Amino acid sequence: MHIKRSISVRNHSYQVEVPDACPICHRHSEIQVVGADVIDDGKAVQAIFRCAYTGCRQHFFCYYGPITSGVLVSVRPVKPVLSAFPAAVSTISPTFLSVFAEAEEAAQLGLNQIAGPGYRKAFEYLIKDYAKSISPERASEIEAKFAGAVVNDFVADPRIQAVAKRSLWLGNDETHYLRKWSDHDVSDLVTLIKLAANWIEIDHLSKSYVESMPEPKGA
Ligand SMILES: [Zn+2]
Repeated sequence: MHIKRSISVRNHSYQVEVPDACPICHRHSEIQVVGADVIDDGKAVQAIFRCAYTGCRQHFFCYYGPITSGVLVSVRPVKPVLSAFPAAVSTISPTFLSVFAEAEEAAQLGLNQIAGPGYRKAFEYLIKDYAKSISPERASEIEAKFAGAVVNDFVADPRIQAVAKRSLWLGNDETHYLRKWSDHDVSDLVTLIKLAANWIEIDHLSKSYVESMPEPKGA
């Protein structure tokens, strides 16, 4: 989300877009204008802002196109906001968490062509590591198979299977030249991966309680 702020460039005042929260501490604090000028032979504008929150006070740069547009092109630096996942997911697949975090960072830096395949790769780790947690004796077979075959052959829970298949459909769209699912995008892929992770946690926790608390004999 953006708000409008007024910057002064060579004694003229212009309205430009500014993030409505600090890109580093993410608080909705006051954004102070430090300075601005044209760059790149007048083709673009660079402005420096500062977060007014006393616990942050960090400076950041906003880049704009030609001065009259005021449209925000990019912000640097950005500290990414990373999603939290259930503890069971970090036990099953620590690699999923690290690859997903890289994809999220890419997305928040505006690197959308990189973020999509990153989410797809993260999901492959999640589904294969989950399958290995169910069938550890078949680990090398799971590692060698395509992710779609792993979902079909090793994921019995229909709720996980339903969201996992759709995650792969959208994930494959992110890595291919042509999209099949033009009404869905990366944000749908992220939602499906989070759903799959939550179902995996429910399945994992439920099984661990059934194992540690077997039905009493004669009950
Ligand atoms: Zn801040």
